Amino acid sequence: MFEALKTQPADKILSLMTAFRDDPREDKVDLGVGVYKNAEGQTPIMRAVKAAEQKLWQVEDTKSYTGLAGDAGYHDALRSLILNDTVSKDQVAAAATPGGTGAIRQGLELIRMAAPKATVWLSAPTWPNHPSIIKYLGMPMAEYRYFDAETRGVDFGGMLTDLDTAKPGDVVLLHGCCHNPTGANLTASQWQEVADFLKAKQLIPFVDIAYQGFGDGLDADAFGPRHLAKTQPEMLIAASCSKNFGVYRERAGLLMAVSQDPAKTPLNQGTVAFLNRQNYSFPPDHGARLVTMVLNDEALRADWLTELEGIRTGMLTLRQTLADALRQRTNSDRFDFIAQHRGMFSRLGATEAQVEQMRQSHGIYMVSDSRLNIAGLNAQSVPILADAIVAAGV
Ligand code: PMP
Repeated sequence: MFEALKTQPADKILSLMTAFRDDPREDKVDLGVGVYKNAEGQTPIMRAVKAAEQKLWQVEDTKSYTGLAGDAGYHDALRSLILNDTVSKDQVAAAATPGGTGAIRQGLELIRMAAPKATVWLSAPTWPNHPSIIKYLGMPMAEYRYFDAETRGVDFGGMLTDLDTAKPGDVVLLHGCCHNPTGANLTASQWQEVADFLKAKQLIPFVDIAYQGFGDGLDADAFGPRHLAKTQPEMLIAASCSKNFGVYRERAGLLMAVSQDPAKTPLNQGTVAFLNRQNYSFPPDHGARLVTMVLNDEALRADWLTELEGIRTGMLTLRQTLADALRQRTNSDRFDFIAQHRGMFSRLGATEAQVEQMRQSHGIYMVSDSRLNIAGLNAQSVPILADAIVAAGV
């Protein structure tokens, strides 16, 4: 049987990590993999998470199973964080999942069950796991224009023009904030326009939110999903706690199915629990419980907010410093978009050859589509990157 297996394509980012590790240069800079790093290059455990973990070790008295959909306290805490009071609890079915990826996978399976002919529309470009999972599930998919290679902002006209060809009942996957890989995001008024458009065209939003708090702040970053939850008849949300709580390996995610009509919620809830059952039975609980403890404890929550704000503003400072360094070197405002982008990533708009040149000449490692992880920079590496960008003629 095994001989029938085919070699699967290597993950681009993982091979980049190996190449970085094997590079002997001391001033090499890793802007590849999508994890937050502080100025020392560490991905720290957040203080509040560590404190919650210590408390949990003391008070947890069983490792017995949680519910099939996970712990209700986790659903409540995360629903409030993401949607605030834009919907009531009885409008939302929720299931804990292994990370945001698990939530995306379960959401897609729900779509396939309910509407097998629905096309899932993805931004061009998007996080490569989106098309990869959709293809694996054998679902119809299509792309809408999103990134404007000229301005490095959102091609909003192109986006709506492409989505205009979608059929009623199709699903539109949207990044809730901090678009990966481009860093280019919809403004509040564009979100409102998108909401009106989706509703008029009877398209269903599926929001992937993996970086709440990394862009303009916890509330501003949730503007899109909140506005959609208020205005659309129904929607799906896949949330990840990997980044904003720094619990990557614990695998804490949440799938929410939101409906204006609370009468639909029991069926939705039964479905998301069923999907968990089919795929892995009970979801992981440790990370979810830490997140719940942090959100529900006043002191832990305050400390988490402070640390998260530090992460967010630190990345904004790096963005501004890099944009300034490039202004100085190029005598132009061509790279100001770096300061306007939000989240951990920016797409530089360099060719693959230029990305390769930056690696060879300056030891800069970024994904071949020129996505760079802003959090991989620090005060020492910003000038190296700025020099590399100029030398490569980006
Ligand atoms: N969506 C996007 C756009 C992401 O970038 C990520 C993390 N790379 C995720 C979802 C989910 O991450 P995880 O499964 O680690 O929670």
